[in-house]
Amino acid sequence: MHFKSIAELSAGLQAGDFSSVELTQHFLDRIERFDGELNALVTLTKDQALAQAEAADARIRSGDAGPLTGIPILHKDIFCTEGVKTSCGSRMLDNFISPYDATVVTRLKDAGVVMLGKTNMDEFAMGSSNETSFYGPVKNPWDTERVPGGSSGGSAAGMAARLGVAATGTDTGGSIRQPAALCGITGLKPTYGRVSRYGMIAFASSLDQAGPMTRSAEDAAYLLAAMAGFDERDSTSVDRPVDDYVGQLNQPLEGLRVGIVKEFFGEGLNAGMSASMQTAIDELKKLGVETVEVSLPNSHYSVPAYYVVAPAECSSNLSRFDGVRFGHRCDDPQDLEDLYKRSRGEGFGAEVKRRIMIGTYALSAGYYDAYYLKAQQVRQVIAGDFRKAFESVDVLLGPASPETAFRIGEKSDDPVSMYLSDIYTIAVNLAGLPAMSLPAPLVDGLPAGLQLFGNYFEEGRLLALAHQLQQITDWHQQTPS
Ligand code: GLN
Repeated sequence: MHFKSIAELSAGLQAGDFSSVELTQHFLDRIERFDGELNALVTLTKDQALAQAEAADARIRSGDAGPLTGIPILHKDIFCTEGVKTSCGSRMLDNFISPYDATVVTRLKDAGVVMLGKTNMDEFAMGSSNETSFYGPVKNPWDTERVPGGSSGGSAAGMAARLGVAATGTDTGGSIRQPAALCGITGLKPTYGRVSRYGMIAFASSLDQAGPMTRSAEDAAYLLAAMAGFDERDSTSVDRPVDDYVGQLNQPLEGLRVGIVKEFFGEGLNAGMSASMQTAIDELKKLGVETVEVSLPNSHYSVPAYYVVAPAECSSNLSRFDGVRFGHRCDDPQDLEDLYKRSRGEGFGAEVKRRIMIGTYALSAGYYDAYYLKAQQVRQVIAGDFRKAFESVDVLLGPASPETAFRIGEKSDDPVSMYLSDIYTIAVNLAGLPAMSLPAPLVDGLPAGLQLFGNYFEEGRLLALAHQLQQITDWHQQTPS
């Protein structure tokens, strides 16, 4: 059952071939069998899942079901879930039971999904390897000595091991696409503003965006259709109708112009990864698309600009975790200052502290213009590169990650080398564009991700291109033994 698509499972549920309770139990059994080693989940919501599955079965019997009704999924632990621990991978929120649901969670609940549990992640979504989690590293199911990528590493590993039908993730600088690439699954970061950020614990508010992590582009279309849409509780949510992503999957692509980003194929990309991308490009051409080389001349500024903007915003967002209202509080505080210092000192891990320090510095009087303002200006320049590129092409293409999954511990003492994991993913977050990663041919037995970038709100076209490629290839069906 865990190899079936959402459409197949939904048809099976409707036909009564199996119930949602049976399907849910199947995934709960897989979690029990494999997650001891993988550490992809931080919270298992078994009883709630079975109750939701029973409700889904009743809804199916009453004839009121949609395509996601009764489908068991995993939520990244960054989404607030009512009555369930929402830790964001941090000791700071280890005792936090959310009193409400994030909009993404509400929408998927309304569609009838079953939540199996919450997935492990880098602390406050800061990381590219899942090693910054308070709950320990997640193992990559393809090789358990390697990282799954991050920050949505638990969702990516969980999908690679088929511990759920689909998963949610968030992407501030690559956290959906890079782990999707390293785990051999499909992940989509939508246009900024397409999916509500309400109830999604904020890292860098001008960059954060939620999206689906699935076994195929078709499944991603089903998930995004339910997740996307205007939400008056998020002031950056865009009031614009949601496209029919599923209905558009087979749109004609003949003559579509695909721009190969020159800068993403230079030095820094190893030979195996380059060959994998080339094979994927050759298959894409069979769909009748035309490929041309394009340039994003300022893309090399994205990592430095991001590592000013993201820490600046996180230093502000994380100031609410002060030991006063919720979250971790130190024992026996002597006075207010002691309470703040020790609660924050004990609650946050090293990477989060590093970012708060950098961000506070970048925002401080005297440095604001030189760092934060400058980074915002660079951001406009990067967005301008994309604007220009999309004047001559419909979609852009590059790798999602410069390398396959690296070993646990390999980069944990070298933050700059870790930050470079996102060299191909960060630019679109700065520009607010949609992009996805999908499996390309394996490189030395490990997954590689092909990345497609679209213009604003063109998720439908990206999904169609990815789906049609997945119809003529089987890279997305490869799973770890
Ligand atoms: N790896 C990047 C970082 O550490 C991106 C994380 C993300 O997208 N949440 O900030």
